[in-house]
Amino acid sequence: MPKAGIVTVVGKPNAGKSTLLNRIVGEKLSIVSPKPQSTRDRVVGIRTSGDVQMIVLDTPGLLNPRYALQEAMRATALAALADADVVLYIVDGSEGPPPPLVELARLDHAPRAPVVLAVNKSDLLTPAHRERLAAGVGDARFISAATGAGVDDLMADLGAMLPDSPFLYPDDEISTQTVRFFVAELIRETALEQLEDEVPYSVACAIEEFREERSPVYIRAVLHVERESQKRILIGAGGQRVRAIGRAAREKIEAFVGAPVYLDLWVKVLHNWRRNPQALQRFGYKLPLPEDRSR
Ligand code: GDP
Ligand code: MG
Repeated sequence: MPKAGIVTVVGKPNAGKSTLLNRIVGEKLSIVSPKPQSTRDRVVGIRTSGDVQMIVLDTPGLLNPRYALQEAMRATALAALADADVVLYIVDGSEGPPPPLVELARLDHAPRAPVVLAVNKSDLLTPAHRERLAAGVGDARFISAATGAGVDDLMADLGAMLPDSPFLYPDDEISTQTVRFFVAELIRETALEQLEDEVPYSVACAIEEFREERSPVYIRAVLHVERESQKRILIGAGGQRVRAIGRAAREKIEAFVGAPVYLDLWVKVLHNWRRNPQALQRFGYKLPLPEDRSR
């Protein structure tokens, strides 16, 4: 009997969730960034290996819900926790002993699914450091999402914990997300790479037109920011910065879709969109439903 189920990856921003997800599904699906809290959406990766199919959910950082955006992120993370067959709690080993997941995520009760603790960035730990941590956390797996050390063993253990089930997706599918979604993520990621702190979290990307039948593929995208001052930063002197973002993003999109692309990239102000439920919905962020708050 094959096994199939959901593995939800949780952890603090910067713990290495996206890096691990990319490694285990073997494709660049989830944003990886040295800046914290860059993963706003629940990205679904699918890993089919032998007779085990893992549907992997990445979670946005579990934050203090101060803005509507952060509420939406937390609701998404909580929903991914509730859906899990196994929860993979990933912590940054260089940060010292991790808090229990229930405490970190301020949960009312432990998740229904078993929680596996993975201490990441083990490549940065000295043997002594590692021993001290191991003594403190009990049943932890040490891994390095960056080098791959320990990841195969971890995957085998997680796979064994999934329920007996036929595959839930075709075995060549790496993601249920649409190409449009990933293209928007690649553009937002590129903008993020080229900007300083503060502005990045105010950038959302919307794909307004996507014509696959043309050659080159025609994509019109808008980077939405919250204020005029941010728009000026994004555009740069003489439009230099937005052109550089467009060029770099186009190269990534071409590699992703495997065809030449014409990227028509615009910058617009949508005042305070992070606090605006309609705008959040338009950019694909789930808003918390009343019943999500209790999970
Ligand atoms: P997320 O916020 O949890 O999704 O974390 P990311 O996957 O975006 O990683 C945050 C930062 O940690 C990035 O700069 C990664 O390159 C780095 N990182 C992730 N895993 C490892 C690891 O195993 N070792 C080291 N040295 N760095 C890592
Ligand atoms: Mg991430």
